[in-house]
Amino acid sequence: MSSKPRILIVEDEAAIRSGLIDVFTYHGFKVDSAADGSDGWHKAQRGPYDLVLLDVMLPGMDGFEICRRLRETDREQAIILLTARSTDEDVIHGLSLGADDYVAKPFSIAELVLRVNAVLRRARVLPGGATQLELGADIRVDPGTLQGRRGDELLSFTRREMDVLQYLHAHSERAVSREELLHKVWGYANALALETRTVDIHIAKLRRKLEPDATTPRVLLTVRGAGYRLPPP
Ligand code: CA
Repeated sequence: MSSKPRILIVEDEAAIRSGLIDVFTYHGFKVDSAADGSDGWHKAQRGPYDLVLLDVMLPGMDGFEICRRLRETDREQAIILLTARSTDEDVIHGLSLGADDYVAKPFSIAELVLRVNAVLRRARVLPGGATQLELGADIRVDPGTLQGRRGDELLSFTRREMDVLQYLHAHSERAVSREELLHKVWGYANALALETRTVDIHIAKLRRKLEPDATTPRVLLTVRGAGYRLPPP
């Protein structure tokens, strides 16, 4: 990528916002910012941005709502949430709305820049493949369009969900651990305990789409003590 990556920073606290603008400008980004939720939502829609960094607690419209709306209109948009508390509930809620990742406040700048770059690297290095994937007898998914079919039912995926499926499909001869998924799909060098929840949440969302009966998975299998796998073709 020769041009500068574009980032939108939505943060209502002026000191944090100007700090973030400086940091990402310094790191070579073209930065836009918004100081409240409504302005953030309007700017995010007008984009395009390589990444939207969303504070959760915002006047006007909160970060969760912006994330939900953005994901409705653009399943490819990279989104990172800044959560005030790293409670499991906030994290799970944000990820279930389709955020790619979250960073808990107070954050270290180095950590935040790492996370942003990891999400962008994923978006760049693994663009949707052209080949349709067959998962089991009656499921087909298309990494290019992020659509699929189970029988007659139309399925939609986020880019991250599709990345997980593509990775498991490419390694369907074995189980893939949550740590490996975090490393290869999310781009994290080291997986922290809470982050493995991120993988579980994505797997749960995929199962709701892929499995007729999520309590007895037949497509996206759990291998006890080893991780997850798809049945070999
Ligand atoms: Ca705030």
